[in-house]
Amino acid sequence: MTLRDRQIERLRTDTFDTLVIGGGINGAVAAASLAGRGAKVAIIDRGDFANFTSQASSNLVWGGFKYLENYELFLVWKLCRSRNRLMKAYPDNIKQIGFYAALDRTSPYKPWFAGLGSLAYWIIGMFGTRHPRVLSTDHIEREEPAIDTSNALGGIEYYDGVLVDNDARFVFSFVRAAADAGAAIANYVEMVSAERSAGRWTVQLRDVDTGEEFSTTARTIVNAAGPFVDEVNEQWGLRTDHRIVYSKGIHLIVPRLTTTAHHKVLAFFDDSGRLFYVIPMGRRSVIGTTDTRVDTPYTEVTDDDIDFLLSQINARMDLAPPLTRADIIADRTGVRPLVVKRSGNDQRDVDWTKLSRKHAIEADRARGVVTVFGGKLTDCINVGEEVAAEVEGLGVPLEADLHNWYGEPAAATRDEFYRQARLVRLDQYRTKADTEPLTDRLWRRYGRRAFTMLEAIGEDPRMAEDVMGSADYLRVELHAAARTEMVTKLEDFMRRRSKIDLVVHDDDIANSTGLAEVAEILFGDDAEMRLAEYFGGADQIPPAVRAGLRQLGANS
Ligand SMILES: Cc1cc2nc3c(=O)[nH]c(=O)nc-3n(C[C@H](O)[C@H](O)[C@H](O)COP(=O)(O)OP(=O)(O)OC[C@H]3O[C@@H](n4cnc5c(N)ncnc54)[C@H](O)[C@@H]3O)c2cc1C
Repeated sequence: MTLRDRQIERLRTDTFDTLVIGGGINGAVAAASLAGRGAKVAIIDRGDFANFTSQASSNLVWGGFKYLENYELFLVWKLCRSRNRLMKAYPDNIKQIGFYAALDRTSPYKPWFAGLGSLAYWIIGMFGTRHPRVLSTDHIEREEPAIDTSNALGGIEYYDGVLVDNDARFVFSFVRAAADAGAAIANYVEMVSAERSAGRWTVQLRDVDTGEEFSTTARTIVNAAGPFVDEVNEQWGLRTDHRIVYSKGIHLIVPRLTTTAHHKVLAFFDDSGRLFYVIPMGRRSVIGTTDTRVDTPYTEVTDDDIDFLLSQINARMDLAPPLTRADIIADRTGVRPLVVKRSGNDQRDVDWTKLSRKHAIEADRARGVVTVFGGKLTDCINVGEEVAAEVEGLGVPLEADLHNWYGEPAAATRDEFYRQARLVRLDQYRTKADTEPLTDRLWRRYGRRAFTMLEAIGEDPRMAEDVMGSADYLRVELHAAARTEMVTKLEDFMRRRSKIDLVVHDDDIANSTGLAEVAEILFGDDAEMRLAEYFGGADQIPPAVRAGLRQLGANS
């Protein structure tokens, strides 16, 4: 029985204090905080965990320097506080990073004024980062020659946080924490309908992978369906004070644009005066994002989006040759679920980019439903705490919050891991000089679970081999993913537990014989079926991957 089968069995048979609908960041923190405080919790998502908005972010943990433009001082203060808290709780997963902004004659602010803004940002952020500075054009040219300084008047550098891996993996860490605290977790399970009677919900669920329907019961529900919260509430006839509107944002992932030593985010004002960024992602750069009003949560990256971002970048960086479509390794798109009051003006009348990024949480006591509207990854600990307070208000008794449902293990545990890693000479297994030490990588990705990986490598050094040449994933990590990370489809692993789909060219993935072994470790006998699903049909499995499957068959 797989991890997922066991969890679905629990959904069928148990009665829960709370059922969380939606496994994006808001649902994941809600489940982690409630389970961590002793509630009997289940969390479901109709896709993989973090398959929607929470896999489309800029990976930034930030106070929102740009919201100062709208004088949202309280929001910036709150987000900075959340940023500082998260950076403290996740010292290896969230790193402080410099934002390097070059300003030219077309920029809306002069360097001295932007410098004052960055100072204000630092003070509002309670000095939680390194201090900002004003940069001369010569300084920018020296430190990052890739920035076109021909029209520059100078620039600024200020600091925020960045997720070292990716947003979706960060979300999964909360889902995993919820499971470790006893929650039932299941991806590819959809809430079809729900009815309340005698103080409890009977919820009809559908296993999206098999099509099978079944039901579960819960005293309360947390609606964390992100862009779909209104749709879900309407299904139950539940009326709320807030609602969601959508703002689309896209990112393009390209080979690294900055000089290798320059591990900074580059910030530019686009032609409309809006800030956009070049964000480091290992050996890649992520360009984005955009901010466009849309009426549907389902979006795609259009030719116009791509042309816009490429032209903005080429106009502001000295790239020889200029960046073209051929350089794009991957793209991603999502909608920010922005919260507005139902009683407010028709939002068509307001400046779209000025809509606030704050979240709202509403509880319906009669129905036993808590709804989470909007929010940011950065604010996730607050969301977890606020949801727990509301659920407690609905009558679910919770233990005291010891703040142990989030964060990395204690420094002493980390020291012990590094000591044991030295004993098995873990870093000597690294084969690519331009990648980080394996000790750092395993600790950051797995925390306490990394100890068993050391044991496995100690027993069998093959466990420390990279399975796919073009991606940085060890055999031992795949075995751990198969056991503990609820990888239901190959895409779950390629796009969300890892970021291989984002940083490796499609051609390199197609030419990887190692992908067959990845699928075999993750899915056993279902490997070929999951490969066919990933590539869009059995006849679409590339020859190299087929060859890998044959080789595995011959060896077994
Ligand atoms: C382009 C962009 C850039 C961003 N950058 C940043 C950033 O750098 N930093 C930051 O802090 N924030 C950022 N954000 C904001 C942040 O990503 C979002 O606010 C956050 O991810 C929203 O999470 P969520 O859990 O509310 O929604 P989602 O992640 O969309 O999760 C909702 C889930 O509910 C599930 N669901 C819906 N209906 C059902 C049903 N009936 N049954 C079961 N499951 C269901 C969906 O499948 C989905 O997975 C960005 C957002 C965008 C779009």
